[in-house]
Order: sequence, then structure tokens, then C-alpha cells
Amino acid sequence: MSALQKRIFEHIKKNGPITVDQYLNMALYDPKDGYYFKDGIIGRGGDFITSPEITQVFGELLAIFIIDQWSSVNSNYDLHIIECGPGRGTLTLDILNTLQQYQAVYERTHVHLVEISPSLKEIQQEKLAEYKNIQWHTALDKVPQCDGYTFILANEFFDALPIKQYCDTDDTTQERMVHINDKGQLSFSPPDSDNIHEACPTYKIIMDNINLRLHNAPGSFLIIDYGDEAQNRRISTLQAVHDHKIAHVFDKPGAVDISHQVNFNTLRDLVDSSILCYPLLTQGEFLKQLGIDLRLQQLLPGASAEQRMQLLSACARLTSPQHMGEIFKVFYATSRCSQ
Ligand code: SAH
Repeated sequence: MSALQKRIFEHIKKNGPITVDQYLNMALYDPKDGYYFKDGIIGRGGDFITSPEITQVFGELLAIFIIDQWSSVNSNYDLHIIECGPGRGTLTLDILNTLQQYQAVYERTHVHLVEISPSLKEIQQEKLAEYKNIQWHTALDKVPQCDGYTFILANEFFDALPIKQYCDTDDTTQERMVHINDKGQLSFSPPDSDNIHEACPTYKIIMDNINLRLHNAPGSFLIIDYGDEAQNRRISTLQAVHDHKIAHVFDKPGAVDISHQVNFNTLRDLVDSSILCYPLLTQGEFLKQLGIDLRLQQLLPGASAEQRMQLLSACARLTSPQHMGEIFKVFYATSRCSQ
């Protein structure tokens, strides 16, 4: 048993069963052994690969989108990019590399990275060392209110937040707990069923803060994540991954990545009515609209045969329905002052 596992067991023995989000908080954010507090978690050597880690084209296209949105409001405004959960900093790097090619944009750009994990912050600082316009914060509400245009970005951030689960029976709803079963193992109570609904308390905390920033101020937010807008999901979407393989949520807490499928309906309901929400797009549709095919046509002639293969397969991976093109969704919204 790992030290964290022991602590979780002792906590339950002493205080009784814990809620699912309490368990996830311990497994993900324990300051000593939680998943986000250890090294080497994202990227080829880690547990999973995210879109920006697949190809720089992802960040390049987002950078052009950001420039387009900001300049259509007022290109004399400062551009504040707030990124929630920047991981290894790859997306930030690709965005800044692209913005740097447009001096008039770049000199107005300020980046605020919201990162809870000290080890990932270190990786980001190293990777982004040449950029002097970046500030780090441990939570979104610690980022000062920004003057100018605010672009809030979150790629695979919401799926990482701890959720609660509830079991609905005929006329009652019972919160799902984590307890120690007869065999002395962690298990859910009630067990798996097709009557489960999920809720994430942190969605509201984050969206309230986004609302505050975009209320009567120009800006927008872009949320990209895996999930859907199903009205009545009735299953657990919790998923644990370790070393690119499916694991169990109770396997090695602190060593496995645990995520859920984002409920975009819930997110949309939390958006202030002063903010204009666009219909949800699939990642494939979004990247096509941003011109991923055109960007490929620009890059391919200058690439070696091997690079060409890599570029083509990377872009197909991001856009094709069999890979990340359909399961990943894009939720974009702008404040009314941006229209
Ligand atoms: N956006 C990145 C990484 C996604 S992984 C990419 O696309 O590659 C999730 C990121 O969110 C990690 O950086 C993790 O440390 C961070 N994170 C998770 N929970 C957080 C929280 N509650 N507050 C701030 N950052 C958090």
C-alpha cells in the first residue's frame, strides 16, 4: 500500500465513508502524493497525450483565432490570455511562438497561467523561460481583473476536476460514497448502476469567475474537452488512466490520472446571460473552420517525407471522428461588449 492509500484508508476508518469528490480531491490534490503533485504526468512518457502535445498546429490555429477575436473588437486593447491548467506548457509555447510573429499583437500580450501543480509549474517555467510576459497563479480567482481584452482558455482542464456522484432510485437521490468493503477494499456505495448522475462543484466556482471577468468587459472563453451535451446522462463517466492504459479509479490513488466526461450542458447553464454562447462544435469541425487543411498545405511542401507523415497523421488524429475529432468538443462564448 502506498502512503496515500494508507492515509485514505485511515481517514475512512476514523471518519466513515467519504464522498466521491472527497476521494478525488485526496487522490489528485494531496499536497504530498496527489496525482498533480508528482512529476512526469502528461506527454509521451506520461499517462495520456493532449491535443497540443500531438502537433504544434493546434496551438498555431488557436493563436490565429485569438488574434482574430481580439482584433475584431479593438486591436489597441491589451490582450490578456488566461490559460487554466496549462499542463506541460506546450499550448502556451505554440501560441506565444505564433503571436511573436506579429509584433503589434505580441507587445500587447500578457499571459496568466493558472496551475495548481508545483511540478507542472516548474516544467512550464523551464519551457517558457524566454517569455517575460507570463505570470503564474494557483487559482483563477487569484488572477487580477485585466484591462483590455481577456481570452480565457481551458484545454482538458474541466475533465480533471473532482466530481460528485448521485444515485437516483424511485423517489430518492442518494450521494454515492467511497467506503471499505468486506474484503477490505475501497468500493463505491451504492455500487455501479445505470442510475448515476454527476455534478462538479468546481464548474460553478470557475464559471462564476469567468462571468465576473466577461461581464461588461470585452473578452471570450474557449473550453475544449471530452464530453457532450447530453441532458440526462445516467452513468458514471469517471475514468482512470495510467501509462496510456485504462486503470481502476481505486488503483494506486495518486499514481493514476482520473477524469470525467465534461457535461457542457451544465457549463452552459452556468454562463451569465450577458455572455453570448455559440453552439457546441466538435473539435474536428472547429479545427477545420480555423483552416487546419490550409495550414497543412503550407507546411507540407517544406517538410521531409518523415515530417509529412507525422504532420498528416497528427492532424488526422486531432480531427477524425475515430480519434479526437468527435469526442472532443469546443465551447466558445464572447461577452456582449465584444460584438
Ligand atoms: N491543458 C493541458 C493539460 C491538461 S491536464 C494540455 O492540454 O496539455 C490538466 C491541467 O490542469 C494540469 O496542468 C493540472 O495540473 C491542472 N489542474 C488540475 N486541477 C486544477 C485546479 N483545480 N486548479 C488549477 N489547475 C488544475
